Amino acid sequence: MNIFRLILIATLIGAFVPMISQSAEKESAKKVLYFTKSAGFEHSVVKREGDQFSHSERILKDAFACAGVEVVCSKDGGLISEESLKDFDTVILYTSGNLLEKGTDGQPAISEEGVKALFEWVKNGGGLIGVHAATDSLRDEEPTEYTKMIGGAFLTHGKQEYANVRVVDPEFPAMKGLPVEFRMIDEWYLHNQINAAGNMHVLAVLESGKMEQEMYNKSETVPVMWASSYGKGRVFYTALGHREDVWEMPLFQGILVQAHKWTSGQLEGDPKPNFKDFFK
Ligand SMILES: [Zn+2]
Repeated sequence: MNIFRLILIATLIGAFVPMISQSAEKESAKKVLYFTKSAGFEHSVVKREGDQFSHSERILKDAFACAGVEVVCSKDGGLISEESLKDFDTVILYTSGNLLEKGTDGQPAISEEGVKALFEWVKNGGGLIGVHAATDSLRDEEPTEYTKMIGGAFLTHGKQEYANVRVVDPEFPAMKGLPVEFRMIDEWYLHNQINAAGNMHVLAVLESGKMEQEMYNKSETVPVMWASSYGKGRVFYTALGHREDVWEMPLFQGILVQAHKWTSGQLEGDPKPNFKDFFK
């Protein structure tokens, strides 16, 4: 393992573990739905072997348990309904493809009513956290309602490479405790239809202009984490999270735990639109 990465991980364990354990004493249990249906490409981190939880499900359950938060893991689209959503304060999505179809993993699709119920639930104050492939769901040539809600549509990615992430709003709950700049390896997404609803609050950018692969060099930076309001609901997205070892990083787990504190209303952060401050 790269020595820089080892030092970074050690530093971040120090930064995040106290934050997580302190909050376990204060917070009452909140329920989160981690929904990982893959109607398109199925990432290794969400793939279950038999009846065992996937890599990301195990890690998310443990990290959130430390913060006193119960996570329900499911791939059953039937759970996305008006009635079921009442049990949760936040839905975390790591999905792919057209979720209205059974698709790749053969798990039950979400119904048309279910998708509408999800939109309404978020509009009425529900929290939504999209991770990595969440922007590779329910997208089309024109921005769909889903794309407007989550903030962008997956376009493409190159080979995995080390790249720099720069936090541009270090005061926002999900970014607090992070180094202002950090370098890591992952599969980096490029999005289109980004900021389709005009409400994106950019939290961190990828220094794409410094990356090795030319496909990333068209702009100096691209958004890699953001937040927005969708009605009364709070939406957070991180493009990180392809690799299994990214899920093992305290840095990454800390981002999700802190993002949930914001989406569930435990912490305040203003997602005022700022996309135009960074991008033309
Ligand atoms: Zn990926």
